[in-house]
Amino acid sequence: LLRVEDLQKSYGDETVLRGVSFDLDKRDVEVVIGPSGSGKSTMLRCVNRLTEFQGGTISLDGESVMEMDENTLRKRVGMVFQDINLFSHLTALGNVTLGLRKVRGMGDSEAESKAMNQLERVGLKAQADSYPAELSGGQKQRVGIARALAMDPELLLFDEPTSALDPELVGEVLEVMRDLAEGGMTMLVVTHEMGFARRAASSLMFLDEGRIVERGPPEQLFENPQRDRTKEFLDRLT
Ligand code: ATP
Ligand code: MG
Repeated sequence: LLRVEDLQKSYGDETVLRGVSFDLDKRDVEVVIGPSGSGKSTMLRCVNRLTEFQGGTISLDGESVMEMDENTLRKRVGMVFQDINLFSHLTALGNVTLGLRKVRGMGDSEAESKAMNQLERVGLKAQADSYPAELSGGQKQRVGIARALAMDPELLLFDEPTSALDPELVGEVLEVMRDLAEGGMTMLVVTHEMGFARRAASSLMFLDEGRIVERGPPEQLFENPQRDRTKEFLDRLT
């Protein structure tokens, strides 16, 4: 589904990604870990073209994202960020319908019924008419997930979706993500939640200084890492 080949990216003269290559098949759940500044967010941002890159290719089903119409890319690849960027003047429902009306060109009633289904999927049907200020951080993040899901993406990107949350709210968001993973959603997830990695990831990638140091099934990286750097990093995380 997703192919990243020799991805290179710099900001000015600072090189951030130094030739990153990997493939994701449909239903794969890839968890990405790595030290701060290793290029995790940058890699996700390249995939849905929130930022330009200097070298390599990224393609979805063989089609280069660089040549894809931006609206098409937004529909095919959803993203959930660390900061919960909902529109404060719109209800939960309004936040989810917005993209359906603007990007998918749906009528109001069709958009609303589709949005309600997505809110139900993340356990927030009862909060549809609440404004972001009336929701907890975990609920807001789940609205963000519902908003991304509403576009029927083929691939969902998550950038540390739980790291801005109070500890007691992390679980509800991870549970929604685990349901999605079990439901067959293809996901590329930056997170330090190793419980999620163990239970939901098909593969774990350790990124350091803009390179993939090691990648494999989570059990393998946890139990039998091939590189010292991987072991050191995981020992500090868990
Ligand atoms: P963290 O775990 O802290 O989120 P990360 O692995 O996501 O880190 P990135 O955000 O991808 O790291 O950043 C990689 C490098 O790129 C860092 O050195 C950062 O300073 C630099 N960088 C990121 N965004 C920009 C930008 N918009 N302009 C210039 N430099 C940037
Ligand atoms: Mg980051």
